[in-house]
Amino acid sequence: MKQLQGVGASGGIAIGPVVRLEDEEFVVDDVDNPIEALTESCKEVSLELEVLGKAATSMDRIDAAEVLGAQSMMAQDPMIVDAVQGHLDQGASFDDALTTSASELQAMLASLPDPYLAARAADIGEVFDRVRRHLAGLPSGAGLVLPGPSVLCAETLTAAQTALLDPELVLGLATVDGGPTSHVAIIARAMGVPAVVGLSQLMGSVAAGDTVVFDGVSGEFFANPDPEVAADFEQRAVTAAANAAAAAKFKGTKVAVGDQSVMIAANVANEADLERAVAEASDGVGLFRTEFLYLDRPAPPSEDAQFEVYSAALKAFKEPVVVRTFDIGGDKPASFLDLPTEENPFLGVRGVRLYVQFPELFQTQVRALLRAATAGDLWVMIPMIATASEVHWVREQFDHCRTQLQSEGVEVGRISLGAMVEVPSAALLADMLAQDLDFLSIGTNDLTQYALAADRTNGAVDHLSDPLHPAVLRLCEMTASAGIKRGIPVSVCGLAAADPIAAALFVQMGISKLSVAGPSVNPSKAALDRQTPESLTKLASAVSPATDGPEVRTLAAPFFSDS
Ligand code: PEP
Ligand code: MG
Repeated sequence: MKQLQGVGASGGIAIGPVVRLEDEEFVVDDVDNPIEALTESCKEVSLELEVLGKAATSMDRIDAAEVLGAQSMMAQDPMIVDAVQGHLDQGASFDDALTTSASELQAMLASLPDPYLAARAADIGEVFDRVRRHLAGLPSGAGLVLPGPSVLCAETLTAAQTALLDPELVLGLATVDGGPTSHVAIIARAMGVPAVVGLSQLMGSVAAGDTVVFDGVSGEFFANPDPEVAADFEQRAVTAAANAAAAAKFKGTKVAVGDQSVMIAANVANEADLERAVAEASDGVGLFRTEFLYLDRPAPPSEDAQFEVYSAALKAFKEPVVVRTFDIGGDKPASFLDLPTEENPFLGVRGVRLYVQFPELFQTQVRALLRAATAGDLWVMIPMIATASEVHWVREQFDHCRTQLQSEGVEVGRISLGAMVEVPSAALLADMLAQDLDFLSIGTNDLTQYALAADRTNGAVDHLSDPLHPAVLRLCEMTASAGIKRGIPVSVCGLAAADPIAAALFVQMGISKLSVAGPSVNPSKAALDRQTPESLTKLASAVSPATDGPEVRTLAAPFFSDS
């Protein structure tokens, strides 16, 4: 048995056999007939991509399906074989011929003036990567097909790789990298898959087929557990299932603490999440992460395609649907934009900062939103607002698009405009921002990373990434007070909203809506149902002397001992 300690990133107990996602350096050996081997690999890879594309379609991940379909065709393109043949003729080794051809074709495509074709550069890179892995006898990378129910162990996983996994087959995710608020963790929660991150010794401790058990809350991880440990985890799984059954009784109920009603809405990023939110009867959608419509695809989604997606979300709920305009940048780059590499992407051109550079891209989304607004109660919020002038600029864009659509005779609906409070300056100036906005929504994931200067994807600073740190709580309190002062609602849509201690503290501050991953909607309702106005007041005063997150938890623990 080998014990490791990671950081819980998505709750639940995982028990199952290991599948490793290898990403070590490798070389493709020379063979007698390289062109024959290459042609055969390209055919296999094309088929594999086609199967993955179909799987993505059946999971309603249409964006991923389009990319996989395009890559499947690309894998059969004679340009691959021609390029490799050229280098072999000049005496290159098989591996050199493959890697040089990949970079040359990528560079050639990237230099094309048509942005659609230029964006294929990333695709050809991925196709070559798969072909090389196939020739080297390694399992494929992104779009990994699990052989059966398994726990996927990897150095690192991208948001796209995670989104493409089949939730029926992935029993758990364990990674070396990635913080608890990285987008991999967020997707795992939305899929209801347990995850643990920050396991620095993981890849040296597990072999393919080993049995592992882990707890997605505490971060405890065991490879080849002793019988007692295995029995303990079996029991934890039974308890987790019983808790889930108890929480399910809250489905469709409304929660209130005293006379303060609290909406528990869902965070969604795609159609599968939306279906889950409907199934859990969430109080509307509190955060629709629209950037996932843009990632890993050769071109941005059209106005009409977006209109369909937003209209469908609005029709699914009578409660408000809060759509966040695309938050590209940070750990969510969009391949079609071909942006320059930044030293510090989380401090660079991300969210609203990108709109100013690509106004037409933003206006396409704004037009789709204004058109879709006729279908329901649409609230639109802007990510990464740091200063009031950004709010004014965004308002001008909405006014411009509204006038444009009206002059075209296109019907538009009313929207409420809000900002995410995730940059500390926005929390500090929340009362000023609130003057020009209809609502505020606190993104605790980024607010924590920026308040504590701790990269949310860097496992080495996980201990600082704590939304219960009093510095973060104070910024939340300032935002909540600003909302009360200006008479606009304030919600929380970061992962902390699903933490029972944080949720209770937020409600005590006067926050009226919590937005959580679909599987957490009813557990969140169940946890809040146990609170009273008196218990919240006592809790807030008990934790007020704390100087860090762990101390807040220790002081809060007696209030949550029966949950
Ligand atoms: C947040 O930062 O808390 C948030 C909800 O946005 P995201 O996690 O997508 O950055
Ligand atoms: Mg954010």
